[in-house]
Amino acid sequence: MTTKRVRLKTDTTGITVHVLSMLLLVSIASGFSRTAVAQEPDLDPRIVKLVSTISEEHLGVILKKLESFETRSTLSSTTSTSRGIGAARQWILDEMKGYSPRLKVSFDSYQVVPQGRITRDVELRNVMAVLPGRSPRRIYVSGHYDTVARPGGQGTANAGGPADPDARTAPPADPNAPLDNLAPGVNDDGSGTALTIELARVFSQSGIEFDATLVFMCHVGEEQGLVGARLHAQKAVAEKTPIEAVFNNDIVGNDRGGNGIIDGATIRVYAEGPEDSPSRELARFVQRWGGRYVPSHKVRPMARPDRFGRGGDHSAYNALGFTAVGFRESRENFTRQHDVRDTFEGISLPYLAQNARVNAASAATLALAPPPPSVLSDRNQPMITRAPTGYDANLKWNAAPGAASYRIFWREAWGSDWQQDVRVGNVTSVILPNMQIDDYVFGVAAIDAGGHESFVTAYVTPPRVSTDIKTKPGT
Ligand SMILES: [Zn+2]
Repeated sequence: MTTKRVRLKTDTTGITVHVLSMLLLVSIASGFSRTAVAQEPDLDPRIVKLVSTISEEHLGVILKKLESFETRSTLSSTTSTSRGIGAARQWILDEMKGYSPRLKVSFDSYQVVPQGRITRDVELRNVMAVLPGRSPRRIYVSGHYDTVARPGGQGTANAGGPADPDARTAPPADPNAPLDNLAPGVNDDGSGTALTIELARVFSQSGIEFDATLVFMCHVGEEQGLVGARLHAQKAVAEKTPIEAVFNNDIVGNDRGGNGIIDGATIRVYAEGPEDSPSRELARFVQRWGGRYVPSHKVRPMARPDRFGRGGDHSAYNALGFTAVGFRESRENFTRQHDVRDTFEGISLPYLAQNARVNAASAATLALAPPPPSVLSDRNQPMITRAPTGYDANLKWNAAPGAASYRIFWREAWGSDWQQDVRVGNVTSVILPNMQIDDYVFGVAAIDAGGHESFVTAYVTPPRVSTDIKTKPGT
C-alpha cells in the first residue's frame, strides 16, 4: 500500500503529530472503510521460524510420558520414581533442564496445610522454566500437570451427578495415605502441560533475544482449587513481580466433542471483563497476532472468565489483578475429563500443535514488543479530552520504553473488537479531528523498531463512586 505522510495537526504541547492523515481523513469522511487505514505489518521471520519448529511428534512423546505416570494427582505418591506426582514433576524438571543452558528450571515449592480439597499436609511444587529477557517484565505460558479422576468423570457431573473431584473409589483406611487411583489426565491437563513444555523448548532454542522474560509454568494443585497458581500469584504480588500477561492452557488437545461435533480449526480464549480490561485486550491481541502467524487456525475470544461453573489457573492470576487469559479447546468431550478415559487416544496431535503455534506466535510477538503504554495521568485519570475544539479526540499516553512508534485503535462504543487503527510516529499524543470520544472506544499500543506490537491499552472511564445524599434528620 502506498501511504502519504503529511502534517495533520499540532497538539497543545507543540509537538507535530504525523499520521497517515490523508488516509485517515478519507476514512473518517467515508465512514470507516477498514481497508483505507489498515496496514498489514510484515511478519518477523524469526517468529515464523519459531512457530514452524513446534513438533507434533515431540508433543506426542511428552503426552505419552505424562500418561505413563498413571496418576499425577496432587495428593498421590511422591516416593516412586515411575508412578505418581513425585516422579512426574521430577521428569518435567529434568526434561526442561535439558533444552538449553539459557533456561533456568526450578521447583516453585510450598508447604501447604489441610484446607478445602487439600486433605492432608502436602508439599506442592509448580515446575517453572524461566528464559531471561532484557527486561524483568514477565510473560507466562502455563498449564497444570496435576490430574484427577472420579467415578463417572466430568460427564456425570455435567449431567447432574456427584461433583466432588476428590471422591475416592473406596474410602481410605489412612487419611494420610496417597490418593493413587488411576488418573491419566492426558487432555486435562497433559495437553496444556505438553504445550508449555514444547514452548519452553522452542523459545529457549530459538536464539532470539526477547525483551520480556518468558516463564513456562507447569502448575500443580489446580484440581484442588487452583492452589499452585494461587500460591504463585500470591508470591508475585508480595514480591512485586511484574507479570504482564499469562497465557493459560487447560484442555487444549481434543477436537471431537462428546456430542459428535468435530472442530480442529478453532480455539477459544476466555478473558474476564469489564469489556476493556487488560485481559480482554490480551484476548484481542491473541486473535490479531495468532491469526496473522497461524491463519489456518481461528481464535475465538470469549467475553467471560471461563466456561459456566468451571475454572482454570488464569482466574487465580486475574483475582490478584494480573492480566491472564484461558485457552480451551472448542469442542469438549466431558466423558474424557476427570475420568480414567482421559487417555492418549482422545488427543489430536495436529490440533494441539495448532494451539501451541497460536500461543507461540502471540507470546513471541508480545515478548519482543515494548510493554503496553499507560494512558493514565499522575492523578490516575485516562488522558483523553475533546480539545482543542471540543469536538475532537485528543489522546495522550506515557512513552513505553523501547517504543519506536504507536498504533491508535478505535471502534464504535457498542462494538466488541477494534474496527479501525492507524500507526503514528514516536509521539505521545494525537488529535483525531471531529471524532466524538463519547461515541468511540480508543486505545493505543506500543511498537518497537522491528514492528512488534504490544497489546492495546484502552481509555476507560473510571467508575464513579456513589455516595449517599444527606437529608435532614426526621424528614
Ligand atoms: Zn484442567
